[in-house]
Amino acid sequence: MDFTEFSDLYYVEPIFRPPSEGKKSLLVTATVGCSFRCTFCYPYRDKKFSIRKVEDIKRDIQKARTIYGSRVERIFLLDGNAFVMKPKDLIEISKESYLIHPNLQRVSAYAHAKDIIRKSDEELAEIRKAGLNMLYLGIETGDDTLLQKINKRTTAAELAQAAQKLHQAKIILSGTIILGLAGSDPDASRKHAIATAKLINAMNPKQTQEWYISALTLMIPPGTPLEKDLRSGVFKPLDHTGVLRELQQILLHSSDDLHGCIFRSNHASNYLALKGILAQDKKALVQAIDKGIENPRYLRPEFTRGL
Ligand code: SF4
Repeated sequence: MDFTEFSDLYYVEPIFRPPSEGKKSLLVTATVGCSFRCTFCYPYRDKKFSIRKVEDIKRDIQKARTIYGSRVERIFLLDGNAFVMKPKDLIEISKESYLIHPNLQRVSAYAHAKDIIRKSDEELAEIRKAGLNMLYLGIETGDDTLLQKINKRTTAAELAQAAQKLHQAKIILSGTIILGLAGSDPDASRKHAIATAKLINAMNPKQTQEWYISALTLMIPPGTPLEKDLRSGVFKPLDHTGVLRELQQILLHSSDDLHGCIFRSNHASNYLALKGILAQDKKALVQAIDKGIENPRYLRPEFTRGL
């Protein structure tokens, strides 16, 4: 069922959520917009950032029960970095969600690295105990220079720390990296690939635990600072072969000690959809990329790529 299609809850369009939170998740507006301003990101550019009152969020959670009965199994808290909210508020919202929806199994949200590392280990453990059990983290790259360039307002060290804090709290991490983010310069692309692999290695959990790394391929939507750079010639995009070689470099430089890491590149922005577990499927994934480069018919055509 598509919870967004006929929902009567409070939403501020446009609405974005991870593909894995598609039709199965009830979307609840906890925040509007994003408190950050990355140069490539457009969904929240026209939304003034705000945090909703907890009573209003709880009212939506209750309203959903009258609309959907006991069918809600997953809740995704909107918008761009709902995890910026105070721990006590996230705990209250999560507890209310499980209280009201008897079949609920998952509460999740997008987070920025700083939203995670500002919370203590004890606070994260409490949030997990209340049922917020999955977070989507935009990693983008492990290259600090590039992170600064895209105005991510974090570093590779903070991203690694955020991942380890989530593992420790047993909150499932789903991180995304962006292929092509460094543009067409071969040295910049290589630096992005190697630094990203190094960061993924630093995110490896100390104990056996499921975690996700998904690759997206850069899209440059109109109205973003990056689009301005594209139009002025400051930014030159990487072609599809370069993007695939970049992904191959990331995989080749990823550690053979990675465990429990479910890797995917099945997002609509990608040229080649791959899925495997790292490190065990590393060799097969690298070979599949070679096959994709040699046989462009396996690749998603440029005009069908999307966000
Ligand atoms: S933190 Fe995420 S949602 Fe917010 S502007 Fe950056 S990429 Fe967009």
